[in-house]
Amino acid sequence: MEKREKLFDGNEKQVFATDNPDLVIFRYKDVTVAYNNVKRARFPGKGILDNQISAMLLDYLNRNGVETHFVEKLGEREQLCRKIEIIPLEVVFHNRIAGTLASRLGVEDGFKPGNVIVDLCYNNDELGDPLVNQDQAVALKLATYEELEKMFSIARRAGALLTKLFHEAGIEMVDAKLEFGRASDTGAIIISDEISPDTCRLWDEKTGERLDKDCFRLDICDVAEAYAKVLDKLNSIKIK
Ligand code: 5GP
Repeated sequence: MEKREKLFDGNEKQVFATDNPDLVIFRYKDVTVAYNNVKRARFPGKGILDNQISAMLLDYLNRNGVETHFVEKLGEREQLCRKIEIIPLEVVFHNRIAGTLASRLGVEDGFKPGNVIVDLCYNNDELGDPLVNQDQAVALKLATYEELEKMFSIARRAGALLTKLFHEAGIEMVDAKLEFGRASDTGAIIISDEISPDTCRLWDEKTGERLDKDCFRLDICDVAEAYAKVLDKLNSIKIK
């Protein structure tokens, strides 16, 4: 596999072309941003942890019938992924009501409802990733109704699988943000981007300790230490 030109240089990741038009290389940086780029910092080694965790979780979903863009881990910071056409929407799966959703609904942060909640947001930093409904997403030509149905169904299945896996590792997955794209080779709707403590709220089941990006957002814990704990816990179980 030959690494070619840089296609995208984001805050936290870079994407490179390869000699195969249907494959790209994701490279994870040590930078982290929050609140739509308002807050920013560098944590040495964070990109390595994110790459390992994300590769593990995406591979687990692939092997359990949820198609993602992940192909293989290439090195400590890089992974080979299928090329996609980005769908600029975020599907957020909530087991508990925390963060923005708790503020919006006026409930205590961490409230546990009797049902799972799945939200749709427009992935647009300038607008602050606003909540949108299906009609609005179709009106903006971000996706079709059929694609949205698929995204919701995949998100529920992926959310359930990830919740189970984290539970086996002694971690409660409070919520998780999923992104999707159209695979360039088959056109299928597949999970893209990363799944990591940057994109999920993860709480230690025993201690309630925060093991995710809230460490940085709220300045309450050490990011690299928290992410290393997530990796250790995932490494301590047998992932099927
Ligand atoms: P909230 O809506 O409370 O900001 O986020 C809900 C969940 O989705 C959290 O796990 C959060 O990490 C994730 N999430 C939502 N939007 C984004 C985003 O733009 N970037 C990242 N990294 N995570 C997000």
